Amino acid sequence: MKTSPAGIWRWETFLPVPPTGKIVSMNEGNTSLIESVKRKNIFYKLEFENPTGSFKDRGSTVEISHALFNGYKKVVCASTGNMGASISAYAARAGIHATICIPHHVPLNKMRQIEAYGAKLVKVKGDYQDALKKTWEMNAHNPKIMLTGDYPLRMEGQKTIAFEIVEQLNGKVPDQIIVPIGNGTLITALHAAFVEMIQTKMVKKVPKLIGVQAQNCSPLEKAWKNNTMRFVPIQNPQTIAGAIECGNPVYGLEALMAVKQTNGKILSVSEAEMKRAKLSLARKEGLYSEYSGAAVQAVVENHLWKGTTIVLLCGHGLKE
Ligand SMILES: *Cc1c(COP(=O)(O)O)cnc(C)c1O
Repeated sequence: MKTSPAGIWRWETFLPVPPTGKIVSMNEGNTSLIESVKRKNIFYKLEFENPTGSFKDRGSTVEISHALFNGYKKVVCASTGNMGASISAYAARAGIHATICIPHHVPLNKMRQIEAYGAKLVKVKGDYQDALKKTWEMNAHNPKIMLTGDYPLRMEGQKTIAFEIVEQLNGKVPDQIIVPIGNGTLITALHAAFVEMIQTKMVKKVPKLIGVQAQNCSPLEKAWKNNTMRFVPIQNPQTIAGAIECGNPVYGLEALMAVKQTNGKILSVSEAEMKRAKLSLARKEGLYSEYSGAAVQAVVENHLWKGTTIVLLCGHGLKE
């Protein structure tokens, strides 16, 4: 029998491989890069092709492989939905029990997906920040439960999007990558990956990283506009783009630095713009993405982009 190669782990020289070499993988990553049919030089990276429908699988394979190596029987994760589903799936494969803490208003489809994998779903009153606090309490109460989520191991896995982009462009670095920002883990990981590629002489430059937040939840965009690295958290944010509804981004400062150091910027889009962009992505490009992808599409449509531009569509439209 011929099984698929082990997903993102083909980039093992850039990843923290567990000493045993034993990994929990579902051939995550290796997602398509396709050109826009409407705009020249705009390329969509289809991260919704990942096994659980979002790029979170790239980080979950690393976290759960390490959970297994370290002998954890239980993990806990705070999530706005996608990370929870991803951790639940990889935990199921590893025979590890997962508890997922989510804000109570997460879309029903995401809750169903989490429960389908056999994870325990804990609905927390409040926002993502409250869900995060709940996981810290559980871990403090029982240190044998591993904390998973927006932590350094996840960031390692999520770097692989950048390696793939350069590979798919035949070694060329794009001029910019347009990235949705929730907790800022993804954009920080992309920056780290390009720095590593420069250090290992795989590339000579870094693309501009263009971060996108929903206007209703845009602490980093506000800080960027005010030219400060100090952002003010937002309590109980509300946006249709649930995957980026993080009022106090865990890697907020790192995200701001990634944008600054790559000469990029942070933009925000309104709820109406996202609704329009979600439809135009589907009707003009044939791409059904969740609202975080609509946020980046709105930025594509609202501005003129020069040079090669990569647009990350991070989660599947069927999830919302
Ligand atoms: C997690 C997620 C994001 C945000 O990523 P961060 O690493 O939290 O910044 C954006 N879109 C989708 C679909 C996601 O699942």
